Amino acid sequence: MAANHSVYALMVGMSENWWRAGIMPCLRSDLERDKPVAYIFWLIEGPNGAVVVDTGYHPDYVAPEWAQGKNFIEPPKLLAERGVRADEVKTVIVTHFHQDHFTGMDYFPNANFVMQRAELEFWTGPLMRHEVFDKQIRPKVRPALERLKQEGRIELIDGDFELYPGLELLKAGGHTPGSQMIALQTAAGKAVLCGDIAYTYKNIRDHHPVGWYYNLGDTVVALDRALATATRPDLAFPNHDAEVMQGKRVVRVV
Ligand SMILES: [Zn+2]
Repeated sequence: MAANHSVYALMVGMSENWWRAGIMPCLRSDLERDKPVAYIFWLIEGPNGAVVVDTGYHPDYVAPEWAQGKNFIEPPKLLAERGVRADEVKTVIVTHFHQDHFTGMDYFPNANFVMQRAELEFWTGPLMRHEVFDKQIRPKVRPALERLKQEGRIELIDGDFELYPGLELLKAGGHTPGSQMIALQTAAGKAVLCGDIAYTYKNIRDHHPVGWYYNLGDTVVALDRALATATRPDLAFPNHDAEVMQGKRVVRVV
């Protein structure tokens, strides 16, 4: 039987509200405009030590106006609260490439980054000649990816993948072409980290997709799958709901 994991949410920063964050809204479920936006990455503690989900963001990689005013705390400082050194983390799972999830790669100099091939190929592929896509990836990210590739620190997967017994990556697509979710065994049952398949608990509760998507059908199917996979609906965790944090910067969620 697979060993259980503990899961911690760590908040790198926060926006005043969804409306001003400018990443919103085009579907009704996103209209919680006045609620704050939490920028969360995750620490999983389990039988294989610490696994980190997403990197948080790095001020050098995101737009200056975007990085400021969000009570930014560097991801390594947050991890240190759990006694984890970022430079000792060996595995970082990348849910997708958006700047709030995957610009903190330099904080993890000894980690391998596990990502869907479809995500890497999209953000480095021919569609990037279109500004509407290209402007969604920060200028320094592609050179950083190239460096990681040369260092052999990118692990590409195609579809669902068992990292080890008790921790599985679920290819979702939808939000971005290679978005993935994480399903893992905990003492409370199976939990799912939804990535940006769900921004808020409302997305999950109302079974209504987020308004930012590459493929709406895949987004809806992924939301279905998150709920079908989690032992209970409250074990499916959204990636930007301030309620996850319970007023803290680092909190154990399960
Ligand atoms: Zn996000």
